[in-house]
Amino acid sequence: MNEWHGPILACHELSKFYAVGDGLFALSNVELEVERGQFVVIMGPSGSGKSTLLNILGGIDRPTHGEVLLNGRKYSRMSEDDLAVMRRRELGIVFQFFNLLPELTAAENIGMPMRLARMDERDIMSRVMHLLEVTGLTARANHYPVELSGGEQQRVAIARALAPRPSIVLADEPTGNLDSKMSQEIMKLFKRFNQEEGQTFVVVTHEDGFLDYADTLIRLSDGEIVERKVLNAKK
Ligand code: ADP
Ligand code: MG
Repeated sequence: MNEWHGPILACHELSKFYAVGDGLFALSNVELEVERGQFVVIMGPSGSGKSTLLNILGGIDRPTHGEVLLNGRKYSRMSEDDLAVMRRRELGIVFQFFNLLPELTAAENIGMPMRLARMDERDIMSRVMHLLEVTGLTARANHYPVELSGGEQQRVAIARALAPRPSIVLADEPTGNLDSKMSQEIMKLFKRFNQEEGQTFVVVTHEDGFLDYADTLIRLSDGEIVERKVLNAKK
């Protein structure tokens, strides 16, 4: 595989039009480049297009115009299968609603993407154990999602997203359903992975706490980027 030295994730002239009522541009002409290892925070009022942008960057949704590139490869040039494989290898996605599989335990949920990626079972077990420890969930390993608090469920979801060591993590309001103490825990976890494993993060949030260690703030309004701010380097 060729070594790519450009931005890990980029989008150009990205627009998303919804033909409802008079029609609506959920995104218009969005330009974004994310460098490897960066921590990017996206803010903006409700309805400004944050989830639409994240879903398109994650290849879950498609733009009506423009292009997304992951490691220099255009989504539009890839088959659905190739895109799915690349997503599984490279991208970790965390949602506001944890989206855990209810019939699997915490440990099984965390291991699932690695099993899908057909990783070696012994490697999976040791990675799951490590992630349970890092997220403070070792004692909860065999609990089912209904037996876990919201904060614990989100930590499982984060461990699951990070398990296959994706080079980039996209998170849509990951603390949106958590109290402030839990939110702090989640922020610390992201920071730790960013600093220790060098994972790139793009996080949609209303939480100012994330700005303490983000490199870049992007502000969206009515589907357009209205502010780009370089923040203090890592603390
Ligand atoms: P945010 O995440 O910032 O709250 P969204 O990306 O969810 O914003 O939505 C941006 C805009 O696009 C909103 O006006 C929303 O109503 C609209 N929108 C989102 N999804 C759809 C859809 N599937 N059909 C029509 N309009 C949509
Ligand atoms: Mg949203």
